[in-house]
Amino acid sequence: MTQTNAAADLSRKEARSQEPPAVQLRQVEKSYGPVHVLRKIDLAVGRAERVVLIGASGSGKSTLLRVVAGLEQIQAGEVHVDGSPIQIGRPKRDSLVKSSRSAGARAEIGMVFQQFNLFPNMSAIENVCLALRLVRGMTRPEAKAIGEQMLERVGLLDHRNAAPQTLSGGQKQRVAIARALAMRPRIMLFDEATSALDPELVGEVLDVMRELADEGMTMMIVTHEMRFARDVASRIVFMDQGTIVEQGIPEAVLTNPQHERTKTFLHRVLDH
Ligand code: ADP
Ligand code: MG
Repeated sequence: MTQTNAAADLSRKEARSQEPPAVQLRQVEKSYGPVHVLRKIDLAVGRAERVVLIGASGSGKSTLLRVVAGLEQIQAGEVHVDGSPIQIGRPKRDSLVKSSRSAGARAEIGMVFQQFNLFPNMSAIENVCLALRLVRGMTRPEAKAIGEQMLERVGLLDHRNAAPQTLSGGQKQRVAIARALAMRPRIMLFDEATSALDPELVGEVLDVMRELADEGMTMMIVTHEMRFARDVASRIVFMDQGTIVEQGIPEAVLTNPQHERTKTFLHRVLDH
């Protein structure tokens, strides 16, 4: 490598290291009335990272994703996306930051839920296009072009005119993913996206998620599919009772957990 190349390489590396994390939570506290659900959560997710959250039911995984998506108010701490505040915790007042900057940061986030929530009276393509027209103000042809691209991406272009009730669960979830991708998010959140599916339909949805990961999408994923987690995660985060107990590369957390609570959880969910 020449001197100049080396210098350019170094400055690129420096530029990357100075980029804010894609998602950053600092000392986040969340309660529902008396129920304390997230406790002092610190978490930074880098660009193109795939962070998989695991933990028992009720440990706070969904709440954490919903906080990142700006769907839940926090009582203390801060949530930033790409360096812009999504919300700053304030005990009594409305804590969602209402600047156009935070709305912009929120728009960078797409979320896929366990229940697909497709509009039953609309075709697959209409479901994918709706927000493009209502939120982005696109014309019908503009939205349709993007909608078709997105359905193609999840392997469902042939089903564009299908009504949701004629689609399998796996196909419905792929439409839901296409709908989220249509808004061109930079970060995708998946909350048990395959938990409502018959076992034989899980693979087709995980395949789409795997492709997104390969393309460099920043992802936060809650899943019970441990083999998928091991393959796709750049980091696994184990949560228990609203705290992050431990985190690390899949090999470390899944094969050599350091904490008793992680061990107990993994013994329950893994076949060993
Ligand atoms: P997980 O996704 O890990 O199963 P959740 O984030 O859904 O956990 O829930 C964490 C805790 O918060 C649970 O005790 C749950 O009962 C409680 N909780 C979640 N949502 C609400 C809500 N809207 N109102 C009251 N309590 C809630
Ligand atoms: Mg959940």
